[in-house]
Amino acid sequence: MNNAWVALSLGTNLGPRERNLKMATDELKNLLENVRCSPVYETVPVGYADQPLFLNAALVGYTKWSADEILDRILDIELKGGRTRSIVNGPRTIDIDLLLYGYEMRGLFVSQSSRLTVPHARLHERAFVLQPLNELIPEQIHPVLNQTIGELAERVGSKGVVQVSDILNAK
Ligand code: ADP
Ligand code: MG
Repeated sequence: MNNAWVALSLGTNLGPRERNLKMATDELKNLLENVRCSPVYETVPVGYADQPLFLNAALVGYTKWSADEILDRILDIELKGGRTRSIVNGPRTIDIDLLLYGYEMRGLFVSQSSRLTVPHARLHERAFVLQPLNELIPEQIHPVLNQTIGELAERVGSKGVVQVSDILNAK
């Protein structure tokens, strides 16, 4: 199989949060193959604190799209979910980030352009990204830091990050 492998994170803290997550996941399932979803976590906002709690989740899958094409599709899905950009790190109906991209056996890509950085630049600092991701790919090595997702997740800890449901895997 020539398909690339991707890991994505989802976040929402405005409107019907569970429905936002479900909508984004359904859209991503149209784009990706063999998708696996993490449980859903409720998390305390980071950066700009005066806003509602987030729901966060992660998913992995395979794709024929390039990383740049995935970013375009992600932005489309965010718009469809009603996202507007006002405050940096502020409230949002749905945020989708491309965390990791590459090939499981041949290695993950490291790339940086004006519109896309992979691995995601703040992935390793964020408990709300690492805890869900750790449920899916604890052994995956971060190609820049050369540490596993499990090691990074343990280092940031789980303060402010609580598993609340598994709706993305519900039948
Ligand atoms: P954030 O996710 O950091 O809160 P935004 O969702 O508003 O911020 O993203 C702003 C821009 O970040 C996007 O328009 C995109 O061009 C850029 N970006 C760079 N790298 C990535 C990545 N790995 N995943 C998603 N967006 C990225
Ligand atoms: Mg984003």
